[in-house]
Amino acid sequence: MKKPILLFILISFISCKQEFPKQYWQKGNLHTHSFWSDGDDFPEMIIKWYKNNDYQFIALSDHNTMASRDYWYKLKEKDNQNKVLEKYQKSLGDWVETKIDSTGMFVRLKTFKEYQSKLEDPNSFLIIQSEEVTSSFENKPVHINVTNIKEKIEPFKGNSVYEVMQQTLDEVHAQRKKLDIPMFAHINHPNFGYGINVEDLKKLNGERFFELYNGHPKVNNEGDDMNMDLETMWDLINISYYNDNKPLLLGIATDDSHNYHVKSKANSNTGRGWVMVNSQKLDTESLINAMEAGDFYSSSGVILKQVFQNKEKLFIEVEPKEGIDYEIIFMGYRKGSYNIEVLKRVKDNSSSYTFQEDDLFVRAKINSTDLKENPPRLGETKQAWVQPVIVK
Ligand SMILES: [Zn+2]
Ligand SMILES: [Zn+2]
Repeated sequence: MKKPILLFILISFISCKQEFPKQYWQKGNLHTHSFWSDGDDFPEMIIKWYKNNDYQFIALSDHNTMASRDYWYKLKEKDNQNKVLEKYQKSLGDWVETKIDSTGMFVRLKTFKEYQSKLEDPNSFLIIQSEEVTSSFENKPVHINVTNIKEKIEPFKGNSVYEVMQQTLDEVHAQRKKLDIPMFAHINHPNFGYGINVEDLKKLNGERFFELYNGHPKVNNEGDDMNMDLETMWDLINISYYNDNKPLLLGIATDDSHNYHVKSKANSNTGRGWVMVNSQKLDTESLINAMEAGDFYSSSGVILKQVFQNKEKLFIEVEPKEGIDYEIIFMGYRKGSYNIEVLKRVKDNSSSYTFQEDDLFVRAKINSTDLKENPPRLGETKQAWVQPVIVK
């Protein structure tokens, strides 16, 4: 009698394996600042933090620079208070280059190529080139990160926020085509200074990614009485993109880290938002391919074990932490609707949603009772966002 049972278990095991192919989650932050612009530490020190904290990739996205010129950075009073040089020398020894003149102490900032070759580890840690193309229109900030950029893009001047964004996106697509290298733009923190509104974003062509969660304390992810939160914005944009036959917009979480010495609610610190990309290979092309296919989730702290979808359903399993409760919410856009509806809400560590005939696209959000350590906003709990999938 034992054999059939064993056989049954074996078949179940194999079929289970086939249903849920192994996933390889690569953790990364695509939005970071260093001394090359307005961050308060050296690139190598920042990279080392991410490397030592179980990230697999990082992009330093300084404002309007490719970190390639010869730049002697003059230490400021604040830097001395933060003991930046002391920490840098202790960590990297002879690698550090300094000079003093009558005006003060200077440190040569290592270029992208230099810090990449020093700290990249082909099998375990990738450093991707990036620029935060930092434009504005009538005091409204328009910031767009370009991941894996190769040639500097200058900030644009246009006649509207929309025009500045569209020109930047067009330039990224043109560079990608010219160099035949995968790269992508992502719109940063739309609610920073309430610079970018939902109507501007709906009009764009060639826009695939935006920041759904940004760890900077001044970016208003949650909106206010006059302005919508980014999640609502995301859904409205995707309804519009779906109806216009454009690819859906995918939501990214980032740190937008600037401050590496003092942890506080008022500072933009590391470790607040990131993406988890399902890619067996850790190289830029594979990561970008996976992200463009929507094969990633964004997190402000919740870790997922599995995110699996096929024609019939979307399945999600959380990597649970003891004593923490999780809620999985499936939501979607249905035929004849004008809004995103909650399709299923479960208080559990795993759940699946079976697509219904009228579903057009479905996404999932995972809430938790886990309070964020050092959040940018008091009382923030950890969450994760699974990308929308079009129901075929
Ligand atoms: Zn910015
Ligand atoms: Zn930034």
